[in-house]
Amino acid sequence: MMAESGSMPVRATKRGDERTPLGGERDVLICGASFAGLAVARELAGSGADVLIVDRYEIGERQTSACGIPTGWLERLGLMAAERQRFDTLVMHTPHGTSRYKLPWTFSTFDYRELCQLLWRDCDADFETAKVNGRAAPPDAGGGIAVETDRGTISAPLVVDALGWRRMLATGDGYQPPDAPLSRGLEVHPDGSSEDLAIWIDRKYVPAGYGWSFPAHDELRIGIGSFDPRFHVKDTTVELTRDLGKEPNEYQGNWIPHKLRRATEGGVFFVGDSAGHCLPLSAEGIRTALYFGIALGQELRGVVDGRQGRAEAEAAYASFHDTHEWKFRWMLRVQKLIPKVPPRILAPAIRLMSTKRFVDWSFEHYLRIAPPEYAGSKWAGSADDQDGAGQQQGDADHPLERERSLVQAEQA
Ligand SMILES: Cc1cc2nc3c(=O)[nH]c(=O)nc-3n(C[C@H](O)[C@H](O)[C@H](O)COP(=O)(O)OP(=O)(O)OC[C@H]3O[C@@H](n4cnc5c(N)ncnc54)[C@H](O)[C@@H]3O)c2cc1C
Repeated sequence: MMAESGSMPVRATKRGDERTPLGGERDVLICGASFAGLAVARELAGSGADVLIVDRYEIGERQTSACGIPTGWLERLGLMAAERQRFDTLVMHTPHGTSRYKLPWTFSTFDYRELCQLLWRDCDADFETAKVNGRAAPPDAGGGIAVETDRGTISAPLVVDALGWRRMLATGDGYQPPDAPLSRGLEVHPDGSSEDLAIWIDRKYVPAGYGWSFPAHDELRIGIGSFDPRFHVKDTTVELTRDLGKEPNEYQGNWIPHKLRRATEGGVFFVGDSAGHCLPLSAEGIRTALYFGIALGQELRGVVDGRQGRAEAEAAYASFHDTHEWKFRWMLRVQKLIPKVPPRILAPAIRLMSTKRFVDWSFEHYLRIAPPEYAGSKWAGSADDQDGAGQQQGDADHPLERERSLVQAEQA
């Protein structure tokens, strides 16, 4: 992670004597308790599996993004209580003018801590704060995978890496910025309010990438994302923030993958940013982390229930991941193309693209890469469902099957 500066959030994570040794064997070990890890754990709720989830911070302690997502995903997952603001229009600023795109679906900003706590409330896993250092050893004869943490070594036959772009449980492929296919993002969170969900395509702020202002009720999340990892975004994040009449605070940045990586490796399952599930071009990685997290959770549940072995789960999850490869490839092509388009062509092109027909067509296709319906109806309304009855509906409408038929229909 890039160095952060400015005021830092208060650390709630246990320290010193509170950090007792950790070890032993679990049925499932999920490393990383953000969007991807929590989505997997939630799918395993009620399965009877002994699931442990570990993260170096407490759940929801460290916000990792501007927290913008299509509203449909919050609805389907029963997470509407975390919503902060909703938008039906995207405002795009260029040096040559401003276009307003009326979206065919709405987009929401949410509160990170609250969303994580809502996801966690539906889980029945154990949670521990621990820093994951990597694999302790190759799988043992029984297929158990040992993971080394700063509190000890934990083993499980089913291990998930939801740790973000570092992909700590991989064998090590030298994937390091600035040479790896990673974008760079940084944002600040000054107090303020606005009705506009806005982005800036302006080389004054970033040669390849975009700036954003995502209002969230009483704060603005203002940032810059660069597709080129060598471009330092701090100065222009400050510039955009000041151009909007605000002072930068609470800097928060990270590397953002823009290329898919293998879904499984050495018996470990990878999900979210660790599998490169963040979409190129938009750098939207929350709904895809949830989407692939649900898919993986369903496959692991199949193993826990005795419907399949780990090898079958690996094959099914990898094949599901692979069916999305062409969509990610196309988004990456557009991401690479945009910096090459001369500004005098880009501005009229952006204006032309604001026709209702084009906006509806492109944004509907974009949403379909990871559509909210994929989450099924299992969790809808679960924020009001204190008994967790939302979990009881079982696998009657298995989302993997639904998505497979969606993908097949699209390919046909
Ligand atoms: C500035 C910025 C703004 C963004 N805005 C948006 C947005 O508005 N909408 C959107 O869809 N996407 C956005 N993204 C992308 C999005 O944040 C990621 O794609 C998304 O967070 C991926 O979720 P994840 O669960 O895979 O990983 P993460 O959210 O990165 O979570 C990884 C978890 O693993 C933990 N962890 C990491 N290393 C270790 C370790 N060694 N030991 C223990 N725990 C560890 C971390 O503490 C964290 O909880 C943004 C990214 C950036 C950088």
